[in-house]
Amino acid sequence: MHYHYFTIEQREALERLIRSQASGDARETLRRLHSPDYGVCRACGGDIPYVRLMADPATLYCTACLRPTTPRPASTSADTTSTTSTQSGK
Ligand SMILES: [Zn+2]
Repeated sequence: MHYHYFTIEQREALERLIRSQASGDARETLRRLHSPDYGVCRACGGDIPYVRLMADPATLYCTACLRPTTPRPASTSADTTSTTSTQSGK
């Protein structure tokens, strides 16, 4: 694991974006935003591009690992698409 550093402006922009979406996963995403491994791909361990995080702040994977042809690792339970969350918030 390694830290993914954002500028204060980038972090604040991401936080605003997450709050504005107000999805069920927003609180969890905000928590992850302040954790060391946010912005690090869970599949390959690489950095997730900032532009990709701005497009989908809840993403757990980099662009390469999100390709449809790439099988997702079985160890992950959280979906990257906010619309198909199967876990109930409460
Ligand atoms: Zn990756």
